[in-house]
Amino acid sequence: MRLILMGPPGAGKGTQARYVAARFGIPPISTGDIFRANVSSGTELGVEAKRFMDAGEYVPDELTNKMVRNRIDEPDAEPGFLLDGYPRTLAQVEELDGMIKFTGHSLDAVVVLRVNEEELVQRLLQRAKTEGRADDTEEVIRRRQEIYAEQTEPLIDVYRDRNLLIEVDGEGDVDEVTERIFHALEAVPQS
Ligand code: ADP
Repeated sequence: MRLILMGPPGAGKGTQARYVAARFGIPPISTGDIFRANVSSGTELGVEAKRFMDAGEYVPDELTNKMVRNRIDEPDAEPGFLLDGYPRTLAQVEELDGMIKFTGHSLDAVVVLRVNEEELVQRLLQRAKTEGRADDTEEVIRRRQEIYAEQTEPLIDVYRDRNLLIEVDGEGDVDEVTERIFHALEAVPQS
């Protein structure tokens, strides 16, 4: 199973990614988590990525693509994977197409979590209090929402045109949302 989980910052991608990936026995691959791990351990990639992340900007495609390519090449991703936070730009869509094609497989579905904007900001401000992520200040949250609308929302049409898109209501309890995703994915034939 090769899946993408999309949605604006605060939609609950990270939370749901873990449940969905476990259900299908595939690794969840979160670019945000990989970048943050690199920032904490002070790698070259982390140092480079940090300045973009702290400003709420996207890390340049070249760095991000390379990192995802390496991760997808790991043996645990051979039966499939669930991408959380990638692709986020049209250039990344193309890059990912190439990576998947190279393995001889294809993408099975793209799940988009829908949550209204006011709720998104509230969730992120709440997360700022509990987790203290460097990019969860009000100003940076607003910037991340803008960039999502500009650069990532257009991807939804691309995947809709390919008949891969599944839209799921991301509001309500975490368990409810997980059930909705599972239910929607039951209809997807696994490759
Ligand atoms: P969010 O909670 O805003 O969805 P993530 O935890 O997924 O954020 O990612 C945090 C930051 O990591 C992003 O704001 C961005 O700077 C960087 N990042 C993650 N994925 C990508 C990507 N695919 N392309 C560029 N930058 C990315």
